[in-house]
Amino acid sequence: MLPLVALVGRPNVGKSTLFNALTRSRDALVHDQPGVTRDRHYGVCRPEGMRHFAVVDTGGIAGEDEGLAGATARQARAAAEEADLVLFIVDGREGASTMDDDILAWLRKTARPTMLVINKTDGIDAQAAINDFARYGIKDVLAVSSAHRQGIDTLLEDVVARLPEEGSSAQLDSDPSRIRVAFIGRPNVGKSTLVNRLLGEERMIASEVPGTTRDSVAIDMERDGQLYRLIDTAGVRRKSKVEEAVEKFSIIKTLQAIEHCQVVVVMLDAGEGVTDQDSSVLGYALDAGRALVVALNKWDGQTDYQRQQAESLLERKLSFVDWAERVRISAKFGSGLGELFKAVHRAHASATIEIGTSEVTKALEIAYETNPPPVVRGHVAKLRFAHPSGTNPPTFVVHGNRLRTLSESYKRYLENFFRKRFKLVGTPIRFFFKEGV
Ligand code: GDP
Ligand code: GDP
Repeated sequence: MLPLVALVGRPNVGKSTLFNALTRSRDALVHDQPGVTRDRHYGVCRPEGMRHFAVVDTGGIAGEDEGLAGATARQARAAAEEADLVLFIVDGREGASTMDDDILAWLRKTARPTMLVINKTDGIDAQAAINDFARYGIKDVLAVSSAHRQGIDTLLEDVVARLPEEGSSAQLDSDPSRIRVAFIGRPNVGKSTLVNRLLGEERMIASEVPGTTRDSVAIDMERDGQLYRLIDTAGVRRKSKVEEAVEKFSIIKTLQAIEHCQVVVVMLDAGEGVTDQDSSVLGYALDAGRALVVALNKWDGQTDYQRQQAESLLERKLSFVDWAERVRISAKFGSGLGELFKAVHRAHASATIEIGTSEVTKALEIAYETNPPPVVRGHVAKLRFAHPSGTNPPTFVVHGNRLRTLSESYKRYLENFFRKRFKLVGTPIRFFFKEGV
């Protein structure tokens, strides 16, 4: 599964700066969507051409519970204890402090593989900073400047080289005839009720995918002639009463499920609307570029008035994913599940559609002629041609000149134009803009 890297260090050494440098997608259009709540502790690093990994910023981990208010931060500390790799961040300008010493002692107890990352080495003698921390006896040491992105590429290579073998995850993705679906959402929205119902109905043809561990259970099933693989967030399926009581919402497991599926079904509780936790879960699906269906569960228990309220709230709060289909379901009574799977199917078909280069260029021409970009400070962008560069999500490269002057709103216009023209539903679309030919 998606490996986990934890950032550990005392306050102010630059953990969150490094966290942003690692996890912020370069695609600002994806990242800066209004309405998405970002969790500042968890993210996924997707270096080009390298293995992806989850990153958790543990906050100030020293001084017992200081700076660790809230369940999220406590969970972050627990996550560090299970991390595949810990990056111990220190401040190269200030040198070693007693707080750093305390963290080192804690790290030795956890015995996780650790790299020492000496931050803020911009404009100072990096070697002197490295020498200052030599007494920590950590073999893997790297000097970086997170704020200036110096040394980050080397850091990425070092991190990826230290991650454990890929293991069973390749097997999860092995069967192209199956649509990989993950049901995600915060606790109590009805995920396990839904999965149990699906498997109850389909008991005869459901089977566990061999080789997957207890943590990454995947279950194969068939419905209306289509094969599916349910990428299970741990604990969704066989949840005993005891587990239910102690189970905490695991963001890492959610990130892993998103990473391995093709279609994310985000479940919401119709009675509770869209909480911050819901929208940050949606943000993760968005960052991953996943096809998406929003399932509004517990539709059975709602009065007409409540249903209207839920609908209008949804329109408002989920405008940033207006391309995702919304389905009203009752996991408890099994209603709406036919619609749900049709929507999953449509989203998958759109996400994996193959479009030819000539069609893509034609679409760009028509979009451009119908509505050319406006003049910006005497300059106007020229869009020349485009080609497809991948699926899941559908990705297009647009070539032209003065593309820097293209506004976000014009990019959204292009997106919507392509969406309509190629009848894409339930999937994000990505554009890359390349100057020249
Ligand atoms: P955190 O408390 O460990 O998460 O630290 P922050 O990321 O909030 O950073 C603390 C301060 O250090 C901020 O003012 C940052 O701008 C600054 N900072 C972070 N990284 C660097 C760096 O690489 N070089 C310099 N000069 N300053 C940095
Ligand atoms: P999970 O934590 O997301 O896996 O949620 P559960 O499946 O454990 O469901 C939490 C609670 O919501 C349980 O008491 C379920 O019986 C109830 N529940 C789940 N789905 C529905 C539904 O469609 N309608 C109603 N009324 N209750 C539901």
